[in-house]
Amino acid sequence: MIPVTDEKFAEQIRLNQSELAARIDLPFDFIVCGAGTSGCVVAARLAADPKLRILLIEAGGHDETELVQDPNQWPMTLGGEMDWGFVAEANPELNHRALFYSMGKVLGGGSSINVSTWSRGHQADWDLYAAEAGDEAWSYSAVLELYRSRIENWAGDPDPDYRGTRGRVHVQPAQQPAPFSGRLLAAAQSVGLARFPNANGRMMEAEGGCALVDETVCSGKRQSIFRSYVHPLMAQPNLTVLTAAHVTRVVFDGRRATAVEFHYQGKELKAEATREVVLSLGAIHTPKVLMQSGIGPEAELKHAGIPALQILEGVGRNLHDHVSIASVWASEGEVLGSAPRSQTACFWKSRPELDGPNFYTYAISGAYLTPENALRSDLPSHCWTQVSGMRPQSRGSIHLTGARADDPVKIDANYLADPQDLADLMSGLRFAREMGSASALAGLCGNQIAPSSFDPTDLAQYVRNGLTTFWHQSGTANMGGDPLSVVDSKLKVYGVDRLRVVDASILPRVTSGNTMAPCVVIGERGAEFLLRR
Ligand SMILES: Cc1cc2nc3c(=O)[nH]c(=O)nc-3n(C[C@H](O)[C@H](O)[C@H](O)COP(=O)(O)OP(=O)(O)OC[C@H]3O[C@@H](n4cnc5c(N)ncnc54)[C@H](O)[C@@H]3O)c2cc1C
Repeated sequence: MIPVTDEKFAEQIRLNQSELAARIDLPFDFIVCGAGTSGCVVAARLAADPKLRILLIEAGGHDETELVQDPNQWPMTLGGEMDWGFVAEANPELNHRALFYSMGKVLGGGSSINVSTWSRGHQADWDLYAAEAGDEAWSYSAVLELYRSRIENWAGDPDPDYRGTRGRVHVQPAQQPAPFSGRLLAAAQSVGLARFPNANGRMMEAEGGCALVDETVCSGKRQSIFRSYVHPLMAQPNLTVLTAAHVTRVVFDGRRATAVEFHYQGKELKAEATREVVLSLGAIHTPKVLMQSGIGPEAELKHAGIPALQILEGVGRNLHDHVSIASVWASEGEVLGSAPRSQTACFWKSRPELDGPNFYTYAISGAYLTPENALRSDLPSHCWTQVSGMRPQSRGSIHLTGARADDPVKIDANYLADPQDLADLMSGLRFAREMGSASALAGLCGNQIAPSSFDPTDLAQYVRNGLTTFWHQSGTANMGGDPLSVVDSKLKVYGVDRLRVVDASILPRVTSGNTMAPCVVIGERGAEFLLRR
């Protein structure tokens, strides 16, 4: 990777990109909308062919700030200019709380503001996607090979059957693990979770397990997907990267996507694509731009006054996410240091009939409680939080509030709509309590502070007051072959030509862990399909 401090290379990029920005009126082969996790992968793989002219359009700005480079500063990006700052609708099941729904708005998208945890997705996830899509390219064995051969540059102990060292993404195990992390893994083992050498090899084939976490950090610096894929190619004459450019609509000639409209420097512009247009705007704005381009549910388009080009009832439906709930413990001093990133990952399933783990837990120093739950607890000066993420049954939806590009979307996250989710979360909190109370943590971990009562009524109230998003929004333009599917197994939007969706929107269900690594897979597959065409 080319270091950020390479002044000469930075100057080459600046000159090249300002020359290229002056020529956006000439047609491009491919236009990729959104320079987030998946969009960066697609654009870079396409641009590797010097004969192809690529335009990558991003609404956010540059990433040259300590807030991005230092992965420990991720909480400071929330609510700032690098966050879209979405807010979901007030949810009656959450005592009418309206949750913040952050998403990255900067080169690299989520990969530039996230916690840097690398979690590949479970065998059961990928095999489900292959079955839904009817395409082995999405199966676990095919995706494992992709991670090994093209994606990962693994810096941990060699594990050649599972981990590759020739890919673009630097992945390492948590560095200098605190003694507490070893004791926490011993505690997890004592309640039945098998210990694995790393969190992304065989552990992603098991029913559960625990390990040190993997992360996209090198020498203390974040390795975003933008830095790993696009930045090294930005001095090339065939890759134009526009920032602060807001995509509003895909333009069609008949049913064929031919151009993209966007706001840029105070003007309404149109760029032409002679081959294909790719939407990689993330799971909130990809369905928005599809609907604003006339592709979506009939009633929704009619209501917003948008002429229908292709009715697809699944656009904006099937919003899936991980929910998060905290367990807070007193500790004997600062057990984990002050970095707001977990060094451990524990996965388990809360019901035997599930095809894979539906819970995972990370541990961080400090007390992370919603204001509603913090009111109920006396917090000692030293605490640590077990953050449990769960894959819910409930699905939400994204809606237009008008036809104009600046009309915000309405996000109905719909958490806890399925009663099974509340039951699972309560059982997850009980399991987390067993882990935190295990004798392996004696002397480091004190009393449990929150939840303060495991009485079923109190616990249900704790969940309703404390549930938040884990920021893994997915599924709103999902891949498959049923009437609510939006794209086929090659990520082509049904009913129109030369338009693909390549981002977390295509996942039929959220993966078992965090979603950045799966979005890199989606980007790699998208680029393969486009280049094969
Ligand atoms: C706070 C936070 C913490 C997270 N922690 C982790 C973690 O530790 N590990 C992990 O694996 N995952 C994590 N995630 C999730 C992960 O980062 C995302 O799932 C992933 O980045 C999604 O990739 P994507 O390509 O679908 O969308 P994104 O990465 O969100 O990219 C979409 C891009 O499109 C741009 N865009 C949107 N609308 C427009 C428009 N109209 N015009 C032009 N550009 C537009 C956006 O600005 C953005 O750059 C976290 C996410 C957040 C927000």
